[in-house]
Amino acid sequence: MEKTEPVRRPEPRHAVLAVHAHPDDESLWTGGLLARSADAGRPTAVVTCTDGELADGGSFAAPGVRTKEWGEALRVLGVTSSAMLPYRDSGRHGQGAGSLCAAPFDVVVADLVEQIRVLRPTAVVTYDAAGASGHLDHIRVHRATLAAVEAAAVPFLLPSHGPAWAVESLWLVTAPSSLVGHAAAVGLQPADVPSTPDDRITVSLDVRPWLATKWAALRCHASEFERGASVSAFTDPTLRELGLGTESFLHRPGPGAPADGGVPAL
Ligand SMILES: [Zn+2]
Repeated sequence: MEKTEPVRRPEPRHAVLAVHAHPDDESLWTGGLLARSADAGRPTAVVTCTDGELADGGSFAAPGVRTKEWGEALRVLGVTSSAMLPYRDSGRHGQGAGSLCAAPFDVVVADLVEQIRVLRPTAVVTYDAAGASGHLDHIRVHRATLAAVEAAAVPFLLPSHGPAWAVESLWLVTAPSSLVGHAAAVGLQPADVPSTPDDRITVSLDVRPWLATKWAALRCHASEFERGASVSAFTDPTLRELGLGTESFLHRPGPGAPADGGVPAL
């Protein structure tokens, strides 16, 4: 009988790939997880879908500033690989030529399939179905990332975008209801922003040991602080520990999930 070689699956290249919408989201929502992974010697990757420049012609900062700040933040977080997709911030109304929300959905998914196949992450992290904060670009990134994780594992889909890669687990960053309640009580935000009941959260990661690194990364986005964006509230150390000291995630098995059905460590 002819001997057949077992099919060899290539090694993952990154422990975690975080897919985000805008420069600063990597630090704000997943900075602790990324710094913790880097500290443990586990390679990380970040794909950011827009350069943070507004598609409607307005701008939060001079051209190129937000991309430069993003690069500095990734260095602080020890991110191994990164990419920025060629879309613009859709703003509050999800509009504008070149914006992420105006781009054909399949094109965005194909871009992410290519990134997943090149970066070969074990786990992919993105926003929950409400975009963690309700921003339309975040919701778009959630949907496109889920579709891309599935498509990336199917060899006959987009074969020109690289060899198939099956992600083991998906982690959706979310805002716990208790935290949103606290933030509303101190006037940081309205009480009706999206949130997830605390007892539905799979993992609440205590990232306080990496809070100084996370904060240093967030501070790289100086133009956001200059314009008084909501991140400025975390200049207060008490609010910083409350708002940024824990990162909360929902688990979804990926197409390469282990057969035992267990929840892998993040
Ligand atoms: Zn954002």
